[in-house]
This record gives sequence, C-alpha cells and structure tokens, in this order.
Amino acid sequence: MRPVIITANWKMNTTPADAGPLARAIADATAVAGISRVICPPYVSLAVVADALVGSDVAVGAQDVHAESRGAYTGEISAAMLSGLVTWCIVGHSERRRDQHETDALIGRKIARLIEVGIRPLLCVGELLDEREAGRAVSTVQGQLQAALEALVSEGHAVPADLVIAYEPVWAIGTGRTASGPDAAEMANAIRATLSEFMSAQAAEAVPILYGGSVTSGSIGEFLDEAAIDGALVGGASLKPDEMAAIVARAGITAEARVATASALAAAQA
Ligand code: PEP
Repeated sequence: MRPVIITANWKMNTTPADAGPLARAIADATAVAGISRVICPPYVSLAVVADALVGSDVAVGAQDVHAESRGAYTGEISAAMLSGLVTWCIVGHSERRRDQHETDALIGRKIARLIEVGIRPLLCVGELLDEREAGRAVSTVQGQLQAALEALVSEGHAVPADLVIAYEPVWAIGTGRTASGPDAAEMANAIRATLSEFMSAQAAEAVPILYGGSVTSGSIGEFLDEAAIDGALVGGASLKPDEMAAIVARAGITAEARVATASALAAAQA
C-alpha cells in the first residue's frame, strides 16, 4: 500500500520572519492521520521552519540542491549543507528547467548527491503544452525520467527505493489549469513502466507518484480519485493554511480508503 503524501512548495515566497508561524499554522491545520506532510520553504527559512515544526510529524524539504558535492560555486547549496536540516529535496522543478536551463542529466546528478547524504529525492517531470498538443506528453515525460535515471546510474547509484516522482504538466503550474484525473493516472502508469526498466516491477509499483499543477481544495479530489496517484505537490495554495487544511482533509479520505482496501484484501487472503 503506497502512502498518501501532500507536499508544499513555497517557491520564492515568505521571509524567515513569517515562515515559522506559517509552517506551524499549516501543521496545526493539517493534523490528519495517515498523511505524510512535507513543507519546502526557501533555503533561508529551512532552519526556522524546522524549529517551528518540532513536535509535529511534518517533514521539511529543500526546493533544490547543487549537482556537485562542494567547491567554487558561489551562492549554491550542497547536499551536505542540507543534511540535518531537511529530510526531503525537490529536484527537476520545471521552473528551474526553464529559468536555470537544468537538463535531465544534471538532475540525475543532483539525485546522486541527495542519495549520498540520505535525503529523499522528489523528482519533478512534466511536459510543455505544445508537447501535449502534439501527442507527445507521455514520451516526453518518459524521456525526462529515463535520462535523469541513466545519469544517476552512471554516477554509480541504483534508483533509490524511497524515490518520489511528481508529475507536473508545465502548462498547469501556476496557471489555474489542471490536467484531468485520467490523464494524470495515464501518466503515472507510464512513469511506473519507465521506472521498471531501472528497478523491479514490484519496487516501481511502490514508488509514490504525486500530481502537481494548480492543485487546490477544489481540484485535489479529481487526482486522489485515481488509484495511480498518491498525493500532490502544491505550490500557490500551499501558502494558505485553510487551503492546505482542506487538501489534507481530502487526502485523509483516500488514506483511510486505502487502509480499508488493504485490510479487506489481507482478510480475503487469510
Ligand atoms: C509547484 O510549484 O510545483 C506547483 C505545482 O505550483 P502551483 O500549485 O502553484 O501550480
């Protein structure tokens, strides 16, 4: 049974002064059993958010990491610097692919650096609107994943069992448009097919796949109704405790249903 995960990506929002109270408000508003919650604030607020979350089971994540372990990279942050501050890290977000021209090979190397320090990678993949309209959404996303994982393997690492993937169609991020639930599920199945080229089919089946792209309390149900989708990476709405409360409450219904299904299956097999 895969976990249900709701991750907040605050992007370049909040200051160290307001990040702690916001994180605490979200943690208090989203204390629903059975949901893994992660908050990814800007680097400068990681420590204050970690402090604010002491005593909660909300994890802290970074939004990016450098592909090298150390060296002359002014302004950059290495995996070792994040170690002890975070347990998760986003890599391959489409805003970095667009603005910093990050390639799949670079992103694969970032995953390698995270594995080396025991931080859980959350890899984002997703197609552009013209790629979807040309009927190339699935092949684009599978190509991104394959290239990133090939780079990871060429660094001498296996694909980690704790990898999480976020399928985020680029045209849905920050636009108010969302994919349909069935389109997201089709993509999740395609992602697991590619994963199974790098790990056993059973391990690939266990990798959580989140949907991201303008998720709100109004749209989360569409995605969680799909058995192939295990939660969401939430951007804009993750800055609003009320929205996060409603999103996580809806996720709680899915988590409960998954437990019930797993128990019924176990009873039938006994
Ligand atoms: C994101 O930042 O990954 C994201 C999906 O943003 P938004 O929810 O604002 O579209």
